[in-house]
Amino acid sequence: MIDQLGRRIEYLRLSVTDRCNLRCVYCMPKEGAPLLPHSSLLSYEELVRVCRCASELGIDRIKLTGGEPLLRRGIETLVAKLKALDGIRQVTLTTNAILLGELAQRLADAGLDRVNISLDTLDAAQYRQITRGGELSMVLDAILIAQKAGLALRLNCVPTPETLEQIVPLAKLAQRWPLDVRFIELMPIGAGAHWQGVFSSEVKRRLEQAYGPLHVCPQMQGNGPAEYASLEGFLGKIGFISAFSSCFCARCNRVRLTATGFLRLCLQYEDGVDLRELLRSGADDEQLIQAMRGAIAQKPAHHRFGEMLPQANRRGMSQIGG
Ligand code: SAM
Ligand code: SF4
Repeated sequence: MIDQLGRRIEYLRLSVTDRCNLRCVYCMPKEGAPLLPHSSLLSYEELVRVCRCASELGIDRIKLTGGEPLLRRGIETLVAKLKALDGIRQVTLTTNAILLGELAQRLADAGLDRVNISLDTLDAAQYRQITRGGELSMVLDAILIAQKAGLALRLNCVPTPETLEQIVPLAKLAQRWPLDVRFIELMPIGAGAHWQGVFSSEVKRRLEQAYGPLHVCPQMQGNGPAEYASLEGFLGKIGFISAFSSCFCARCNRVRLTATGFLRLCLQYEDGVDLRELLRSGADDEQLIQAMRGAIAQKPAHHRFGEMLPQANRRGMSQIGG
């Protein structure tokens, strides 16, 4: 669907749980976010129905997220059901990969198109500190298992001043393996509001110093917020998501569904529509589609991360679905 600013909305980030097995410092408070009762989360049946209706509006790509999506039992059955929907051409998932080793083969068999793995450091002690207890070896093992299972992989890193020295070694993974490594600027959302990120310009400077000039890949631009570049001799590409330093809202193509079924129009604002309320009060598909259409038409023009707004988002990334 085209919103009132002419943006084509074709991508839905679907949060399947608010639970997580890590507590990344820039995402969650130490004690974790308050947990929602299971009954308030959408069932797989409800999620599939929302996606079927969304596909009628032109959504053709779905990313499963959370919280940690691999904590939701039987996630591979949801993947298979979404893949079977007419109009949905891609289903991907973003994960901290702690459980990926166990689930990779089942996800590959279900037809998952790609896995994005969140990894900010290759130093085990630092990983434990950033994630408040995570075991790096589980992530590295999972990468190998997932590759063997035939899953396409991508790494997402959110650099901070503490992990600056990790930028070059993390990018090196794209030299040895055909996987893209993307660097994301930290957004001042939830716990992230108390942390400092690193601008893409600094990441690029470090990479060029280590590996030579970055060559922009024009054929990979425009399909979402990332810009991609290649480095001489690298099998994978390097991506940059510069939400803070260069606002890409004019090309925003996405909406988000929280685990409780609230369709959010922008990461920063709480505006949207409560689809769970409609689903559970007997609305038919046409009413759901109309509600989504009406909400998407109101999608905000852009974020205002640089300003403090009273209506700006009070929830963290794990609650919105990152
Ligand atoms: N648990 C899964 C994971 O870590 O991939 C999925 C949910 S997580 C909220 C999705 C992504 O959001 C992760 O890559 C994480 O690094 C990123 N993220 C969390 N808080 C962030 C923030 N304040 N700014 C930018 N990215 C953030
Ligand atoms: Fe959990 Fe992902 Fe947030 Fe880390 S970034 S606390 S893994 S939801």
